[in-house]
Amino acid sequence: MIKVKTEEEIAILKENGILVSKTLAEVGKHIVPGITTKKLDMIAETFIRDHGAEPGFLGYGGFPYSLCISVNDVVVHGFPSDYILKEGDIVSIDCGTIYKGYNGDSAYTFKVGEVSSETQKLLDVTRNSLFEGIKAATHGNRTGDIGFAVQSYVESFGFSVVRELVGHGIGKRLHESPEVPNYGRRGKGVKLEDRMVICIEPMVNVGVRNIYLNDNGWAVHTEDGKNSAHFELMVAIRKGSAPELLSTFEFIENNI
Ligand code: MG
Ligand code: MG
Repeated sequence: MIKVKTEEEIAILKENGILVSKTLAEVGKHIVPGITTKKLDMIAETFIRDHGAEPGFLGYGGFPYSLCISVNDVVVHGFPSDYILKEGDIVSIDCGTIYKGYNGDSAYTFKVGEVSSETQKLLDVTRNSLFEGIKAATHGNRTGDIGFAVQSYVESFGFSVVRELVGHGIGKRLHESPEVPNYGRRGKGVKLEDRMVICIEPMVNVGVRNIYLNDNGWAVHTEDGKNSAHFELMVAIRKGSAPELLSTFEFIENNI
């Protein structure tokens, strides 16, 4: 069943969205060559708890960390580890919070120092494809309109969209209905209702779209070992206006 939210619920989801956004920005300040991804996880957990919230991913389905940290060919769900970030890496940080009984969930792919021009293009295209998806997330449209917008944008640059993992509704639970695929056909899928809250989160590969699961049962890798990027925001569907962003990249990109 798909729940639309009350204004009170949307306000709390936005509090979570802002905290997740600020946590990502805090983590981002520490992303430099030489830092371990485990250290980034500790920074996030401390920041979230210092703001009176709980890390939303820690213990979710047995996930053992506060952040999913996915470096280079890891698409999503990477474990923080003793890996030391190096110049030219890209690192997707996916963060969740639980505050006042609701969830926050957003992700951003950071570069470590300077990256190749192909990698920069991957980051730009993936980030832009998220905003193409958000533009399509209007009242009366369907999830397929979002997927179509993301997919057609991404594929026009010769990159590929991961299909096995999708965006989702969010509320008291981290993953609620509907599923929000990053591929699809116009006019298909679930109808977007006023006050639905969803996470849109394109996962884009430089090479083939195929993936495999790491032996640890969590990390998802590209089959060809090429880079993958991931950006995610929370949006509320609004009748008669553009979708409302409940999380933001402003704190990251404006160095707030
Ligand atoms: Mg998500
Ligand atoms: Mg996420």
